[in-house]
Amino acid sequence: MRDLLIAGNWKMNGNSILASELVDEIIKGLDASSSCDLLLCPPFPYLNLVSQGIMNSPISLGAQNLSQHASGAYTGEVSGEMLKDIGCEYVIVGHSERRVLMGETNKIITKKFTTAIKNNLKPILCIGESLKERKQDLTTSVISEQLNAVLNTIDVNDMKNAVIAYEPLWAIGTGLTATPDEAQDVHAHIRAEISKSSKKVAENIQILYGGSVNGNNAGSLFSMPDIDGGLIGGASLTSLEFLSITKATNK
Ligand code: PEP
Repeated sequence: MRDLLIAGNWKMNGNSILASELVDEIIKGLDASSSCDLLLCPPFPYLNLVSQGIMNSPISLGAQNLSQHASGAYTGEVSGEMLKDIGCEYVIVGHSERRVLMGETNKIITKKFTTAIKNNLKPILCIGESLKERKQDLTTSVISEQLNAVLNTIDVNDMKNAVIAYEPLWAIGTGLTATPDEAQDVHAHIRAEISKSSKKVAENIQILYGGSVNGNNAGSLFSMPDIDGGLIGGASLTSLEFLSITKATNK
């Protein structure tokens, strides 16, 4: 039985006041009986502040990105070792905004994934198709290509410490959401692809859905057998909305 994970990706939003308020409100509003894993991924400058705020709470800390390099002359980059040093447990790798806007290729993303594992960080590997690809019936082949770029390079056992997030590009920040059945089909495909390398890893890995999840649609998405929670963008910036998503995790 897999636990559900609800991860908030704040992207490049907020300031120190919002970060403190959000953390306080989320901790106050958490349901003591909730058994889902919770994670906040603030922007780099607020990682420390959030780390202090979530101390003694069930919430984990994650970063939104890391350098593919270990250390050295890479101005503006942040290493996996630094993230681990300040208390991060997770790191998002290959978010579509980085793939599309920052030109991150499958090769770079695979290096980042490996760097995260080497630093004992749990990578959240984001994969997903564009609207054009979905319309051309290319969803499963795009997903397989993005997933296998990583799977074929690493030891499958490294996936034991990873999370996958299926995030269709057309659903991110658009208010459009994959239907539970559409998402379930892709999640089952992802699990089947991983299972070609290891059935056990495939059974245990958490596969999150991301793309305009909110308090109204979360319950039906999370009720699907292969959807193990959500990567939440916009709705993670409002404590009430984020909390209502966490409350929708009782499968
Ligand atoms: C995301 O950025 O990963 C995301 C899913 O965003 P949103 O929830 O706003 O669609």
